[in-house]
Amino acid sequence: MGRITHPGVAEDILQADEADAILLARQLFADEHWVQKVREGREDDIRRCVAANYCWRSVISGGRVQCVYNPVVGRERQWGEGSLTAVPEGRKALVIGGGPAGLEYARIAAARGHDVVVVEREAETGGHVRWHAALPKRSEYGQIAVWLAAQAAGNGAAIRTGENVDEDNLDALLAAEQPDHVVVATGSHYRRDGWQGQTAQPLPGWETGNCVSWVDVATGAVEPSGSVIVIDDLQDAMAPLTAVKLANAGCDTRLVTRWPMIGMETIPEVYYLWVRQHLYESGVEVLPDLFVKEIKGDSVEFLNVYVNEITTALPADWIVMATGRQSDNDLYHAGSAPR
Ligand code: SF4
Repeated sequence: MGRITHPGVAEDILQADEADAILLARQLFADEHWVQKVREGREDDIRRCVAANYCWRSVISGGRVQCVYNPVVGRERQWGEGSLTAVPEGRKALVIGGGPAGLEYARIAAARGHDVVVVEREAETGGHVRWHAALPKRSEYGQIAVWLAAQAAGNGAAIRTGENVDEDNLDALLAAEQPDHVVVATGSHYRRDGWQGQTAQPLPGWETGNCVSWVDVATGAVEPSGSVIVIDDLQDAMAPLTAVKLANAGCDTRLVTRWPMIGMETIPEVYYLWVRQHLYESGVEVLPDLFVKEIKGDSVEFLNVYVNEITTALPADWIVMATGRQSDNDLYHAGSAPR
């Protein structure tokens, strides 16, 4: 049995006499203090493994053990036991952006004794983690943001949501908060113009079509219908699960990639099999080896990446981009400008 992350589950197994002992693997990468926290009744403090399998992928490709949200594992000599020290005199830190980076900064800085304020424009913290968690079969991912925010707040950080910071109100916020340090953790957004690494350009004709990003679909900001093409340049689980969501909502869904297959950045014997199964079950058609030649309003012309003369035209009431991201660094530049 795998995926034992909650002590209640472990206890139930023991009580039911289904096992004599519970051995943890990935859960101890996520939180090496699991046993200690259970003994002390601090179950809410446990950093639960969310099955991201970042650890697995790193190890099988020859890297070190690492965890998607425990930066200490594999770096114990630098950041392990005893390395987190209190500062002699706390300073005021203003963190703009309550995604995983901003929350992790807040968690550690507050634990060291700094006075930390996090401002997040959305109603909830979490940033990218929330988008991933909104996809089918990915809800557990959201635990990353829940844990980080709870730990940051528990360490004394103030977290304010629904507070947008932009170039117009930045000075007023700085005047009100008087921070010693400002941390810009505004992250990035997925582009809807199909910018990708093949041409380092937006996809031609994107402005003529109904183009959105996979995040728009995952979060429900748009609800496509009819014929939908998902263009996958990421090769992880995002585009396939977005396609599954669309197909389950009744869309005639095609998942198109320029690569020989989908999911090349996933773990083949775990995620790929799992993702492929969901694609088949939901009826998504997968089309490899195709790159966008031109988006023409409600259709897309593709060319075969090996024989460019072979082209394929497909209907597209909606085109969902799982392509490049762009840093949201306007505030950083505004804050760095001479004033
Ligand atoms: S990387 Fe993911 S699967 Fe691995 S220990 Fe961390 S949370 Fe668990």
